[in-house]
Amino acid sequence: MSGREYLRTFKLYDIEEVRQHLLIAGDLSGDCAACRALGIDTYKAKSCPECGTPFQYLTSRRLESHAGERFQFARRMHEKRPDLILIDYVDYTKALGHKKARDFFA
Ligand SMILES: [Zn+2]
Repeated sequence: MSGREYLRTFKLYDIEEVRQHLLIAGDLSGDCAACRALGIDTYKAKSCPECGTPFQYLTSRRLESHAGERFQFARRMHEKRPDLILIDYVDYTKALGHKKARDFFA
């Protein structure tokens, strides 16, 4: 559709809530962020086959490692999984790091 482009947005999330429902897409399959199960079908899985958590969010390391293709890749992921909210991988890992640091010093 012409005139439509992907823009990254900033929104406040509960990082633990995201982690519990996040599918991390790899090159061939995905991982569950909640239980670290591997080999999940990124394009089809509605929930984790190991821990059963329903997926609501999707991210991929490739958003960062292939920065030049980021928006093509985002479009492909969004077309395959319009049911999931696509979040930035680096944002996620940084936010998770902040949370771990807070938990450690709490
Ligand atoms: Zn899981």
